[in-house]
Amino acid sequence: MSKRYSYIKGLYCPKCGKKHTEKEIHHLCSCGSPLLVEYNLKQAAQDWHKDDLVKRKPDLWRYHEILPVNNPENIVSLGEGFTPVVSLAKAGAKVGLHHLYLKDEGILPTGTFKARGAAVGISKAKELGVSTIAMPTNGNAGAAWSVYGARADIQTVIVMPENAAKITRNECQAAGADLYLVKGLISDAGKIVGRSIEKNGWYDASTLKEPYRIEGKKTMGYEIAEQFNWEVPDVILYPTGGGVGIIGIYKAFRELQELGWIGEKLPKLVAVQAEGCSPIVKAFEAGEKESEFYKNSSTIAFGINVPKALGDFLVLEALYETKGIAVAVSDEEILEALHEVAEAEGIFTCPEGGSLYAAVKKLKQKGFVSAEDKIVLLNTGAGIIYPDTIQDEIPYTELDATL
Ligand SMILES: *Cc1c(COP(=O)(O)O)cnc(C)c1O
Ligand SMILES: [Zn+2]
Repeated sequence: MSKRYSYIKGLYCPKCGKKHTEKEIHHLCSCGSPLLVEYNLKQAAQDWHKDDLVKRKPDLWRYHEILPVNNPENIVSLGEGFTPVVSLAKAGAKVGLHHLYLKDEGILPTGTFKARGAAVGISKAKELGVSTIAMPTNGNAGAAWSVYGARADIQTVIVMPENAAKITRNECQAAGADLYLVKGLISDAGKIVGRSIEKNGWYDASTLKEPYRIEGKKTMGYEIAEQFNWEVPDVILYPTGGGVGIIGIYKAFRELQELGWIGEKLPKLVAVQAEGCSPIVKAFEAGEKESEFYKNSSTIAFGINVPKALGDFLVLEALYETKGIAVAVSDEEILEALHEVAEAEGIFTCPEGGSLYAAVKKLKQKGFVSAEDKIVLLNTGAGIIYPDTIQDEIPYTELDATL
């Protein structure tokens, strides 16, 4: 058999096991669960070798065998992926950790890791012949899907809370999206999208109602494995909202095991949430398999203000299966951590990313991580796309005549 560009086999339901074809548009399973993409990994393992990667471009399409796009002509790319893993030697030493790293997604197109999901989601939508997509968002996903949509000539309809960061609105508008603001949360935006999709026949690109965004995000897991030379780190901390990233990273490591590229060991996955919106932490601490809607949620880290995630059961499974944990940190702790990392390391993280350094300090105190552990903080976005959040919180000194 000749080598294939993608080894995609189809879609399957992680809840009831039902299979679906990837040749047609599918959203949720008939049982209500999100669908996941399945690959023919046995065949891929025969045809594809780690060494093949050496010659490939440093973007996420270097892993095209385990991505869902069959025809490379459908790929819509802005060069996304292969973000650097940088050492946080000073910030680590301050809290007694000798191998602390940060993977910096802030340098991606649109300034967040949402570009990964959008690149793969839009490319697959193009392959499926989609002309209009619609989605609710806290801002960052809307911005990413708008620009990739523009590049693919796919119209985007974006609905976001009115208090989402203005900069993401601007980006959606610049890229020609139809943008709507709602009074309320992303869950309220989701209800509106749900209704309008039925009426207009649009493609629903809501988190996990569309199976391919997660495939883009899982490439973070492939990259971490490759960047650590196929010896996975001990712990990965991830700022968890809808949970797509953490589900994706877990899926990546399982696939890498099937490919035979990594061994038995899995990194402990840590879901970090804001105290003002911590449904996963609550469920984890109670040993539950699903979370409950988190009422009146609020946090400065708006990318993780998701009161109820459709894939919560998959997030919790990833935590339990890897012997990970869920941690909540306050907005004050997030801002303090953000300052500390910027000052010690010169990396201006987004607040979601800042939450991770706050969380790792707690985990060190608790004894969950130890001095010699290799730990990766997944900074999901750039601080510079949060001008309002930071400006409000940080006082600046009036220039005075003596300066
Ligand atoms: C969307 C977002 C998150 C949460 O991502 P999930 O994978 O949906 O949990 C975290 N950080 C930033 C900056 C985001 O935009
Ligand atoms: Zn099902």
